[in-house]
Amino acid sequence: MADAMGGGERGRRLRVFFLPFFAKGHLIPMADLACRMAAASPERVEATMVVTPANAALIATTITRAAAKGHTVGVLCYPFPDVGMERGVECLGVAASHDAWRVYRAVDLSQPIHESLLLEHRPDAIVADVPFWWATDVAAELGVPRLTFNPVGAFPQLAMNNLVTVRSEIGRGGGEPEVPVPGMPGKEIAIPPSELPDFLLREDEHLALSWDRIKASQLAGFGVVVNTFVDLEKPYCHELSRVDARRAYFVGPVGMPSNAALHRGGDGNVDCLRWLSTKPPRSVVYVCFGSWAYFSPHQVRELALGLEASNHPFLWVIRTEDSGGRWAPEGWEQRVAGRGMVVRGWAPQLAVLAHPSVGAFVTHCGWNSVLEAASAGVPVLTWPLVFEQFINERLVTEVVAFGMRVWDGGKRSVREGESETVPAEAIARAVARIMESGGDGERARATAEQLAERARAAVGVGGSSWSDIRRLIDDLTVATASRDEQ
Ligand code: UDP
Repeated sequence: MADAMGGGERGRRLRVFFLPFFAKGHLIPMADLACRMAAASPERVEATMVVTPANAALIATTITRAAAKGHTVGVLCYPFPDVGMERGVECLGVAASHDAWRVYRAVDLSQPIHESLLLEHRPDAIVADVPFWWATDVAAELGVPRLTFNPVGAFPQLAMNNLVTVRSEIGRGGGEPEVPVPGMPGKEIAIPPSELPDFLLREDEHLALSWDRIKASQLAGFGVVVNTFVDLEKPYCHELSRVDARRAYFVGPVGMPSNAALHRGGDGNVDCLRWLSTKPPRSVVYVCFGSWAYFSPHQVRELALGLEASNHPFLWVIRTEDSGGRWAPEGWEQRVAGRGMVVRGWAPQLAVLAHPSVGAFVTHCGWNSVLEAASAGVPVLTWPLVFEQFINERLVTEVVAFGMRVWDGGKRSVREGESETVPAEAIARAVARIMESGGDGERARATAEQLAERARAAVGVGGSSWSDIRRLIDDLTVATASRDEQ
């Protein structure tokens, strides 16, 4: 074993390259993962984030913070493909929503850039994001392991894999019958077609076009790395390990909610933490829909009125794109002054969730947000919008039960134009329900608090995620040593 662990003993560290997709929900956790691997074994791992220049800026504070603790992560930049976007706009959320297709186009155009960069730098291992299927071929050419980093959990990954097998049946027979998700361990899950990701319904969708290649490259690769902890979704982690990869490493949460967790992925408004400190424990509803979700102006106004009618303190993050123009109803800002705070742009979400004044989280169910809420022990109101978020919602509300739906009273859809506006009264009712003591909200909070303890245990010394990061490094070290010996 001493010889097999030779990366460190022989004085040569494993050069691991991390290639994230162009979205903050991918860039941030992958940078966190690189930092965790560097911290787990600095003598054996030399981690490098491989990113475009504007995306490097989005992870700069994460990397600087790790460096201040003595864990160095390198950054290697390559040019963002020319897809007709403004200079400095290189990811979803920073790009206007009508330019999302250009970001996906940039994925396709990255292939030759990634290939030549990887062949030139010859890393010892490649951790590449899901859409970059070609990383497996380059890794094979170099004779090194390729891992797929999947930023969503085991439950949604399995559900999507299994739904693909019945894709041709979905939507047949008219109406909107719920589609039972086949092959899920434990509880039966069913989802109406309107709540399923577009790639399951439209053959010309970007992911639909590359799904088979992505899956083949994942199965042919060394394994998958998943930002989750086993105790959050145990049967699904086991099943994923069994069917979906040669090896699976469950290493999350890679970003743990904490008071110190400021400034990731953006500037983060620190005033909101001071404001939270003026509020009683567990009294504030935190409202945030991730890094790129879009709301119609009408929906933004209903949400404003709903938060006002709830009579609870709230901290609401409005993306710059949604807050342009006149979104607040007449006199609203004056009426909620003192009780509500609006952050335009970016909040330090991990620090907000860790704040004792936060009592509930209205979330779009992006995987990172779901995981961060569970890890902070904060119950959630689910308001899924796109892609796999409606699937994540089932884990939150039906399987683990640390949250409830914000609204069920009308058509919900991943396609913005198809979904009905969630009315203000429904929002106010849902907030009252989750914040009241003694009812469903209290049960959800108790479950969330247990999850937080388990998340802390998972990343603590000897915990499941702590061990999986080390198992990953050991496996890569063995693979590298045996390649070096050939
Ligand atoms: N986030 C944040 N501040 C914000 C909005 C988002 O720190 O104002 C972070 C959040 O903590 C999470 C990520 O951005 O880590 C969003 O990822 P998620 O998967 O929840 O949603 P997406 O943006 O991918 O839809």
